[in-house]
Amino acid sequence: MIIAVDGPTASGKGTIARTLAAHFGLPHLDTGLLYRAVGRQVFLDGGNPDDGAAALAACAFADSLLLDPHLRSEETGGLASRVSVHPTVRQALFARQRAFAMQPGGAVLDGRDIGTVIAPDADVKLFVTASVEARARRRHAEMRERGQPVSLPEIHADVARRDARDMERADSPLRPAADAYLLDTTAFGRDQAVEMAIELVEEIRLRGRPA
Ligand code: C5P
Repeated sequence: MIIAVDGPTASGKGTIARTLAAHFGLPHLDTGLLYRAVGRQVFLDGGNPDDGAAALAACAFADSLLLDPHLRSEETGGLASRVSVHPTVRQALFARQRAFAMQPGGAVLDGRDIGTVIAPDADVKLFVTASVEARARRRHAEMRERGQPVSLPEIHADVARRDARDMERADSPLRPAADAYLLDTTAFGRDQAVEMAIELVEEIRLRGRPA
């Protein structure tokens, strides 16, 4: 079973994807981490993330970079969002993601274009979303927990900026696949949202796609 989980930044898609993977015993790939690694590598190279050639060269990052704690920072998220607009970067990361999706037994992948580009043949597609305000508040709480003090207005502006960049890019923009289930988590806590996602996937697995 291939499960595609897409959605904007801080929507809760990562938590949902991780929990679905554990629940159904499937391997999980956070594809945002690949774009973050490219963004981080450009930074380490002293390059410009808006320059396609520099971003493409950074796609040859060493696998050990995926363990770098800097990948989780807001700054690297911003760099990832900038390198991800280049079609050559998206192409360079395609095969790795596609191979992960196609492994025997299936997989859970989360990102922006899993249901539309990487695995349009996925058995289940979820599009997880929440209002910009709710996502900014969640990201703000997360950053404070990690001891990274950033103001709420700053986070709000950053989330809105990344939404705009992800949705407006020409190649593989963030949008729900036509056959994706929308899960709006604005009014729900993390546990409730995760429970709803598990129920939905269980239902599809047992009865096929609900009409
Ligand atoms: O999901 P995460 O916030 O870690 O992703 C960082 C950035 O990488 C996103 O803002 C987006 O621009 C890019 N990305 C993408 N396609 C994916 C996953 C992430 O363009 N499948």
